[in-house]
Amino acid sequence: MKLVFATHNIHKLKEIQALLPQTIELLSLSDIGCNEEIAETAATIEGNALLKAQYVKKHYHYDVFADDTGLEVTALGGAPGVFSARYAGEQKSDTDNIALLLKNMEAQQDRTAHFKTVIALCMGDEVRTFEGIAQGHITKEPVGTNGFGYDPIFVPEGYSQTFAELSAAEKNRISHRAKAFGKLIEALGELSSIDYNQKNTNKNESIRDKRY
Ligand code: IMP
Repeated sequence: MKLVFATHNIHKLKEIQALLPQTIELLSLSDIGCNEEIAETAATIEGNALLKAQYVKKHYHYDVFADDTGLEVTALGGAPGVFSARYAGEQKSDTDNIALLLKNMEAQQDRTAHFKTVIALCMGDEVRTFEGIAQGHITKEPVGTNGFGYDPIFVPEGYSQTFAELSAAEKNRISHRAKAFGKLIEALGELSSIDYNQKNTNKNESIRDKRY
């Protein structure tokens, strides 16, 4: 069975392919000749994941899933949210994004925040979404060098270190992305009637949360 992962990132594709039964062949956007920019114009993370998946389904007629992630900060009314990648501008600089977020948080007492990943799956006539949340709080300054994005200023709940201080394996165990992909993989097993657990163990541990 062919299934499109709506990404151009070959590393991301390979990592998810490794978690799926061999009977599911993952294809990237490039594999299906989809080289146009798919607009991410929705107001929510879920909306953007759905936009991407439904675009591919409509124009290329493949079963498909797409993911979208954002950081939602309580004191900022859920910002940067869908604008996480370009919070400080179209240069999409992690350093600039972090600096702007810390500036906007200067006067804030409530530093709670969460990362949210939503995966939208369009399979046959079914449309499903899977959400993964990592709760935590925003530090006063960046700490740590691992990971990417807002990792240096995000301390997950139950930890005293930022995501950027944790190993990739540890982040993978608890991350928003790992949780959402875990749910997707479980659903794919059901939907494709494959005894998934016999073919793959250690599902979530294998998802690498690194800069793709
Ligand atoms: P994307 O939807 O996976 O491309 O993520 C959008 C943006 O959210 C990224 O450019 C990062 O700024 C931020 N982001 C997503 N996932 C993470 C993460 O695991 N750690 C830190 N920042 C993240």
